[in-house]
Amino acid sequence: MSGRTVLVTGAASGIGQAVCERLAAEGAVLALVDRDQERLAGVAEALGGNGTRHIAIAADVSRENDVRGAIERAVAALGGLRGVVTCAGIFEPSDLGPAADVDLDTFARVLAVNLTGTFLVAKYALPHLMHAAAEAGGSSSIATIGSTAGLRGHGHGAGYTASKGGVISLTRLLAFQYGDKGVRTNCICPGFTDTPMTGGSGRDPVMLRALRRGIPLRRIAQPEEIAALACFLLSDAASYINGQIIAADGGATVT
Ligand code: NAD
Repeated sequence: MSGRTVLVTGAASGIGQAVCERLAAEGAVLALVDRDQERLAGVAEALGGNGTRHIAIAADVSRENDVRGAIERAVAALGGLRGVVTCAGIFEPSDLGPAADVDLDTFARVLAVNLTGTFLVAKYALPHLMHAAAEAGGSSSIATIGSTAGLRGHGHGAGYTASKGGVISLTRLLAFQYGDKGVRTNCICPGFTDTPMTGGSGRDPVMLRALRRGIPLRRIAQPEEIAALACFLLSDAASYINGQIIAADGGATVT
């Protein structure tokens, strides 16, 4: 990934932060995007201390103007864009429970960030990704972040599940529409991962025992394990992988 320009959303926490750290270790040049300006500054400072070239941009991925502006700033600062990882996402407790009890505001809010946010980032990044692929004579790459919730109906919220199903379908469409323009698009579907989103519940012994029963590897994921897959999908090692939906879930979806 040496010198490769990559934009990562949701960079201030969890999987997005781990993706940035992994890409930085591989020599990528980064645009870090998140709506949480304070946490973002902390992640950026740590990366800067390790000598990574990067820019941090505060933006809300559900707002079109924010996304347009963030990508313009990133391209101006980095000199182009060769990769994107869309990690920004939310999960709301009010989304849990039977679908008939979920209020429309919750459903719409979750879709706005998880699905519309992914669409907007892809929409504004694609022209730059196509340009970079043509210049490099290779491919550019988008890795979207879905969830195993989008692959199965096991009850993780109506909005969350629908949003992730949408991300999976959108990924396939992008792979189809932009493959011949040099952009590979793949979707990572993490299983339960130990991040601030899961709020440490994966460390609660009772919860952990219940979770493990459904995971053949008998443990939850660490964000670095998801980041490793994102890094692979962006790299030339994945040069013939396009339109794939890859669960990184310890085998949970085979049970
Ligand atoms: P996290 O809460 O640790 O990180 C999410 C980041 O996204 C935060 O920094 C947050 O500020 C940012 N964000 C939220 N809304 C935003 C917006 N509108 N604009 C810009 N930034 C925004 O969560 P995580 O676990 O690292 O989740 C990352 C992605 O992985 C999400 O899409 C999530 O749905 C997905 N995922 C997580 C798990 C899990 O178990 N943790 C499992 C499957 C999928």
